[in-house]
This record gives sequence, structure tokens and C-alpha cells, in this order.
Amino acid sequence: MWNWRGGTKDSIFGYATINNIDNDADRKIADRIVGLKKQPAEFILKPYLAAKKANSASKLNKFIKVAEKNFHDKFEDACKALERITKRPMISNKFTFYVTTFPRMTVFFKTFVIYMYDSTEGVWGMPIDGFLHEALHFQFYYYWREDKTSPVFKLSEDEFDYFKEALTVILDDELKPLISMADNSYPSQVEFRDILHKHWQKYHDFDRLVEFGLKELPNYIKKELPKITFNNMSVDEVVDALSWMIPETDGPLPLSELLYRLYPELKSVFNHSVDDKKNANNIKTIKPLISKRYDEYLVKNNKLPQEYQEIWNGYNDGFMKALSERLNIEWPKDCYKITAGIGLIPVCPRHIKSRSFEIYPMDQKYVIETAMHECCHFLFFEKWKELFEKWKWKEFDSPCIIWYLSEILIDPILNCKGIQSVFMYNFRSYDSFYDVKIDGEYMMEYINKIFQNNNIEDAITKSCDYVLMNELTIREQCNDYSKSKVSSEKQ
Ligand SMILES: [Zn+2]
Repeated sequence: MWNWRGGTKDSIFGYATINNIDNDADRKIADRIVGLKKQPAEFILKPYLAAKKANSASKLNKFIKVAEKNFHDKFEDACKALERITKRPMISNKFTFYVTTFPRMTVFFKTFVIYMYDSTEGVWGMPIDGFLHEALHFQFYYYWREDKTSPVFKLSEDEFDYFKEALTVILDDELKPLISMADNSYPSQVEFRDILHKHWQKYHDFDRLVEFGLKELPNYIKKELPKITFNNMSVDEVVDALSWMIPETDGPLPLSELLYRLYPELKSVFNHSVDDKKNANNIKTIKPLISKRYDEYLVKNNKLPQEYQEIWNGYNDGFMKALSERLNIEWPKDCYKITAGIGLIPVCPRHIKSRSFEIYPMDQKYVIETAMHECCHFLFFEKWKELFEKWKWKEFDSPCIIWYLSEILIDPILNCKGIQSVFMYNFRSYDSFYDVKIDGEYMMEYINKIFQNNNIEDAITKSCDYVLMNELTIREQCNDYSKSKVSSEKQ
């Protein structure tokens, strides 16, 4: 049941193994458990799988007989072949096989367990073929992955999985008649496997093959990109967002001013207590004041998420890739799912930890611009963590000067060729930054020059030095600007 549940989810190889199912009855059951939690899924699976086990003529029981004979005849030769190929002794002489009725073979390295699919048809070949495939994984895992001095040790989980699956291409026709057919693999790996196979055919040297594969791997592995999902903010989410804007009167964004412009009904209540930082009290006060209006807003705008989603989808992949190249860093795994809430709020806050941000209803091009702006923050702070080992969470939020820096750098980071070719747009940092003058030179012009003349790592470090050195001046001039002008901007 474990394999059925795991196999019906998406894999890193670009398609769900559910598509490997070759008969209608199994497919119907698999379709029914997709997306279900453990208990309801097992409720469906248990009687279905138990019947296969009980029926002595079932494919499962026939396979077990075939496997027993196949292993009796060939297991020893298979082990010898692997020792020859990898030039290392078998890491174990004992394996446990679980025959599974779901078309996914998988292994548990620590316990030497192999899940073997109960079929010899199509791509599956004889059981010994499957054993060689999985046992090659074991050799590779213990002798390379677990070896701290090997570069294989440093690969990410996804990279290691991708590499180990591709390496089985060497279980080819030369191993016949020990095996019944050459090893097959995932369609997304064909090109990588081809170059590995050519290398193997030329040298027959597994160590060199690993070295070669490591060098080529980055050119072939499909890099996963983040996706943004839009939804409407609930009234509680909006109230929560508004509650922390009330005490904010300083900084480059005059938050409470912007808030009262959008919700004049709140102004008379809070105007005399702007220093009230008790968030819970604010929430209690705000909710009854805005609920009715917000409900009406939601009814009118219930299609917005879908509309924005369609606008954004055309830009998502191109932008995510261009930004990753711009900042010279991969997207972290925890950033693959970004959520965007839409609601009646005066600014667009972003939350680095939860990979989410909020926007208000806006024109098409601003939806795109804002999404790019907020995603830029997510990846910029990843870059920050890489550059400055002693980073702290509080640096990522107002009022820290590093937060100022992250907003200042929106302009030079996003106005680059790669991103402009995805979305031609003049990205602007906060208006207040363009008025800041230090030693007779506009700050934004100075920063842009740094970015023109340095690689991204040096540009960020040098801009950081410059902003730190002039922190007081920047803060002062931004505050003055905010007090003189109130404009609607994003965070
Ligand atoms: Zn921002």
C-alpha cells in the first residue's frame, strides 16, 4: 500500500509513475486514491490488494514463482557482474525483496530492501534485470554517496536521484544473456543517459564515468522552478494585515497614512492612538468596522485569482529562470510553492518565511511587476544567506537597513537584460530612494553604477557597504520624503 500511495504522486522525473500502470482495473484504483490521505487511501487499497494475494493464479503469485527460479539460476552471476562493473565488492550479500503490485521499483538503502514490481512484461524484463538495476544503486550509494571525500556526497537529493537513475544505462546488451533486456529509464533522462552510455562504451571505467557524469549533470537535470498561486484573502487575513500597519508612521513607506486613505472609517478610531502596537486589540477593533465592506468586495471580485493566475502564468517560468541567472543562485526547494493573496490592502507585504505575499486589485502590468518584485526579495535573501553566513531573520524586515537595501536593489537587479527580455518594464524602487543624495550624488545612480561594473556577488557586497556607511543619512532623507509625500507603493 505504501508503494501505491507513493507512486501516485508526482516524481522529479517529470511525470507520475501512475502512467506506468498497464491495466484498467489497477488504473481505476490508482485514480481513486490520488490526493487522498493515508487512511482513506488504504481503505480502498486493502481489499483490492488482499484479493491479488489470495488468488493463486494472480499475476503477483505467478511472478513470485518466476522470480524464485530466476534468482536461483542467476543471482551469483549478477553479483559478480556488478563487482566487475563497479570494481568494488558487493556491499552486501543479503537483500530483502518485496514484490509490489504497483509499477514502481524502489529501494531502502539502510536496510537493503528492494521493492520489485510483479511483471516481466514490456520494459520490466526478468526479475534479475530489476535486481541489477537496484543493486547498482546500492553500490553507488555506499561507495560514492556515503563517501565524504567524493563529490557525489555533495549532490542534493534530487541531483543524486537523477544521477543514480541515469547511471543504470550501463546495464546494456553486453550483459545478455544474464539479463533479458537492456536497462530502460525515465523519458526525461534519455539525453543524459545517451552521453553516459557513449562514455561507458568507450572506456568501460565506472570511476571515470562518475567523474564525467558529475561534470555533465548540471546541463541535463531539469531544474524545478517556483510557481505562484493566486487566491483571495479572507477577511481575517486582511484584518491581520491591516492591524500591523496602524502603528507604522516612519520609514520609507508611510503605512498608516496609506491605510487611512483606503479605509477612512478606521482613521477616526485610530488617529489618536497611532502608537498602539497591541496587535490583538487592533484586530478586535478593525474587524467589525470593515467586515461588511470586505464581504461586498469579495463578492464583486471572486474571479480575480483566476484572472491574475492566467496573466502571470505566461511569465512565470521565464522570469524565475532569468532571476535565478541574474542572482547566480538556484531557487531553494522551499520556494517552489509561492502564494499570492489578493485583498483590499494599501500596500503589498511579503513574508520571507512562508514564501507568500499579498497584493491589492491592480492593472495587469502591475500584477506582473509586483509578483516579480516580491519574488526578487525571496531569492535576494537566499543570495544574502549565501554571501553573509551570519545573517539574521530580522535583517529581512523593516526597519533594518538591510531591508532598505533589499528594496533599493529592486531597480538594478530587475532592470537587467535577462529579465527585460521576459517582461519589458522599467522597475522602480521606492520613490523616496531616488531623492536620496549622498556627497552630492544620487544614491540610486551610485548603486546602479556599482551593478554595471561588478559581478553580482561584488555588487551586492559593495552596495551593502555603501548603504551601511550612509545608514543615518538614508534613513533621515527617506523619513523626510515620506512625511512630505504620500504615495502608494509596495513593500
Ligand atoms: Zn519590496
